[in-house]
Amino acid sequence: MDWPSIISDIEHAVEPVRGQGTVANYIPALAAVDPNKFGLAVVLGDGQTFCIGDSEETFSIQSISKVFTLSMALRVVGDALWQRVGKEPSGSPFNSIVQLEAERGIPRNPLINAGAIVVTDHLVEQIGSPQTVTDLLDRLRTLAEDDSINIDESVAKSESLAGERNRALASFMKSYGNLNCSVEDTLSAYFAHCSIAMSCHQLARAALFLAFDGCDPLSGQQMVSNEACRRINAVMMSCGHYDNSGDFTYRIGLPGKSGVGGGILVIAPGHGAATVWSPGLNSAGTSAVGSVALETLVKATGWSVFV
Ligand code: GLU
Repeated sequence: MDWPSIISDIEHAVEPVRGQGTVANYIPALAAVDPNKFGLAVVLGDGQTFCIGDSEETFSIQSISKVFTLSMALRVVGDALWQRVGKEPSGSPFNSIVQLEAERGIPRNPLINAGAIVVTDHLVEQIGSPQTVTDLLDRLRTLAEDDSINIDESVAKSESLAGERNRALASFMKSYGNLNCSVEDTLSAYFAHCSIAMSCHQLARAALFLAFDGCDPLSGQQMVSNEACRRINAVMMSCGHYDNSGDFTYRIGLPGKSGVGGGILVIAPGHGAATVWSPGLNSAGTSAVGSVALETLVKATGWSVFV
């Protein structure tokens, strides 16, 4: 693979659109981020790493954290998880409440807010709220080989202050018996994991196990079973990008997860993992410039799972 030429293709594709999209503004800490930031990191199975732009700068990973909590929950509770959360794309915004009534408190999938709250509730029930966050941070630090990874406390505080919609989702699910811990215990872990700050490089490195049947190829550690890995990738492919999951799969053809901080993680099974960051979002909450960069990456590498 000619990586210098792939990097140059991406840089050329990004230049004319740089700064496009609307930065998330539901909390001040996200609204203040410079829309012109752009970073991309690719980590391959043999450890080779290719970076562009602001790839070492940390940003708020937001919903990308849901991939890691899902992998922890599948390890802890296994397939029992699917009794409390579905596997279908929602076709609705990330924080939508409408489908919850029709589906009697069972969220459509684990990557929208309601579903991720149920996933976190499972973990909090098993190990407690602070330990859920500690274990997640430990896991990310080990995988990314970087002990500096942490929660951005100002983002976590704002998430909680602005968190009435998530409290409504959690309370609504509790009314249907689909939340086992207290709303505040579960949400304090949820707000904390959404507020983790990581760089493109750290995220791509941490998610590498998802490209290799659940086994981190560099440390040899089996993080989740082969089967769980396939399931996580399948859910990312169909549900990873709010109500533009179909468009993302059409354009990029890789399992992935967006966050409203402007990050997108993608998994190229058998090849590696990549993360892009550009804070301007499209109308569905996915990084606008990040999607263009990933489209170019996939075209140049032939990594789409549809070949
Ligand atoms: N912390 C955000 C929320 O719960 C997550 C948004 C996202 O990245 O989808 O509203």
